[in-house]
Amino acid sequence: MNKFFVILLCACSFTAFSQSVSENLDNIMPVRGFCIAAPQPDDIDEFVRFIEEELAPRHVNTLILRVDYNYQYKSRPELRDSIALSKEEVKKLVEVCKKNNIRIIPQVNLLGHQSWAGQVGNLLKAYPEFDETPLVEMPEEYEWPNADDLYCKSYCPLHPEVHDVVFDVVDEICDVFETDAFHAGMDEVFYIGEKQCPRCSGRDKAELFAGEVRTIRDHLAMTGRQLWIWGDRLIDGKTTGIGEWEGSYNNTWRAVDMIPKDVMICDWHYERPDKTPVYFAMKGLSVVTCPWRNSESAVKQAQDMVRFREHSTRVMKERFMGMVQTVWSGTGQFLDSYYGRRTGGRTDSSADCFKALFDEIEKLADVL
Ligand SMILES: [Zn+2]
Repeated sequence: MNKFFVILLCACSFTAFSQSVSENLDNIMPVRGFCIAAPQPDDIDEFVRFIEEELAPRHVNTLILRVDYNYQYKSRPELRDSIALSKEEVKKLVEVCKKNNIRIIPQVNLLGHQSWAGQVGNLLKAYPEFDETPLVEMPEEYEWPNADDLYCKSYCPLHPEVHDVVFDVVDEICDVFETDAFHAGMDEVFYIGEKQCPRCSGRDKAELFAGEVRTIRDHLAMTGRQLWIWGDRLIDGKTTGIGEWEGSYNNTWRAVDMIPKDVMICDWHYERPDKTPVYFAMKGLSVVTCPWRNSESAVKQAQDMVRFREHSTRVMKERFMGMVQTVWSGTGQFLDSYYGRRTGGRTDSSADCFKALFDEIEKLADVL
């Protein structure tokens, strides 16, 4: 056979093989995600390479980037971090993801997580009037547990001006990332409907939580964008034994029956393969399972996700969307441990978990 035809034949069969790989993967696991803090400006180029050389070959198709105030916002410059990504740097991420068919979903924490340890976050620093618990002072040395039950501060969802500010941020970050979905965080909201808030005191916490989800969802829907949130506030932590972090102890979980059904739930469980995706799917909500650093559990969670899809009605199957690997160290730190530059000390096992999870997903698709 003519050499030219041999090459052509090989190229065609390779293309066909790649197509069937991605079809198989899409069929068993429509969302194959990775979630990490948006890189610092200095780490941008290495992170772009990581997307190209590590995420894309593993068929990752969704990248959740926790941006918060690591962007040089023009609409609300008062909220920027002192070192923050420029528009040009963000566009490098957008381009590499476009090229590799990866959907980017930026995250800014709304409602909860408005402080961390002893530090108030940028929103409440600039707008202290949005604080749900203005009487709770930030401690010099944070420790848990504490007398105020302070984990993180929340903003007051009923403050009449809070959405003017946060939606400017949401719109700008969605525009610059050219995205059709936004992640609002909304995990671990311990302060909600507090007695010291003149607007929220005495109100039903589930209704307050659901109301905020709906407000954000409706705002995004005006520009055709989908809302993603973490799932923990929608799980009854006490009855399930799942606890007050991965689940809710303040009755917000009843909001699971009140929120719009097109909100995507990111159901994080880091130590056990809890079967909570079934709970969310039965409530009419689409769900992805999110592991962190326990490879054994992540592999079981991926197997479960495939089984849930196989063994459900056609209606339910569509809601079991896939898996999202989460990373909770800084991006630079993660890259150091991923590429083996960090030796000694505590290694970040989310890198190993990521590899184990995506190896398993390929195995499940039977494409190795
Ligand atoms: Zn309030």
